[in-house]
Amino acid sequence: MPARRTLAYLEALGIDVYVRRGMQAAPVAEPLGVSALPASEEHPAPPAPAASPGLEATLGWEPLRELVAACTRCELHATRTQTVFGAGSHEARWMFIGEAPGADEDRQGEPFVGRAGQLLTSMIRAAGLRREDVYIVNVLKCRPPGNRDPKPAEAVACRGYLERQIELVSPTLIIAVGRIAAQNLLATETPLARLRSRVHALGARGWPLVVTYHPAYLLRSPGEKRKAWQDLLFAKQTFARLARGERSGA
Ligand code: SF4
Repeated sequence: MPARRTLAYLEALGIDVYVRRGMQAAPVAEPLGVSALPASEEHPAPPAPAASPGLEATLGWEPLRELVAACTRCELHATRTQTVFGAGSHEARWMFIGEAPGADEDRQGEPFVGRAGQLLTSMIRAAGLRREDVYIVNVLKCRPPGNRDPKPAEAVACRGYLERQIELVSPTLIIAVGRIAAQNLLATETPLARLRSRVHALGARGWPLVVTYHPAYLLRSPGEKRKAWQDLLFAKQTFARLARGERSGA
């Protein structure tokens, strides 16, 4: 990406960049360290009961969307306005997975809208991508009341849908957006800061996954945006390695 465009995206992220004339702004403060980290290495969470494979395991996109729209597998169906299935390209090489719909998403039926969604779009563009070329989805398809954290039983109930979406997209790289999504996907209680800058293997297929901060958190803590930029650079480097066939180096 040309340096000028990179600087524009950093500005959009709200990151102050100081560069010497003629130098590109690309602060990679942390080593690449592409190595798989077993999620249970530190602070292992009690194993969540595996979601039994349901009907969704063999469905295509439209039947899957219809199944989700009618889902009553957990209590969240009673309070949702509508389900938030996911959005983006079915051929995406990058997949962004967040936590759960918020109030805006519940109203509009789209993931990551509102201010946090705008910041995620800036983050996607900062990675040199277009939002319409990636796939964006959440761990949960229905909004938890009051934006509370997902309950483990809810995440388990909803997991089969997400797993099928991952299978259908078959992305090169997954970005877990935020602590809740990262810890849920990796079945760990390890703090987000210790999950960053590493490539994790998700599920039985070992989907390559890296983590970054949730844009809603970055809006509350703008001082952390520089770390999110480092995460995006790490993701870009990881993606380039994976695209060359160097699967996670593990
Ligand atoms: S959160 Fe998932 S499992 Fe729960 S009702 Fe919504 S779609 Fe179904």
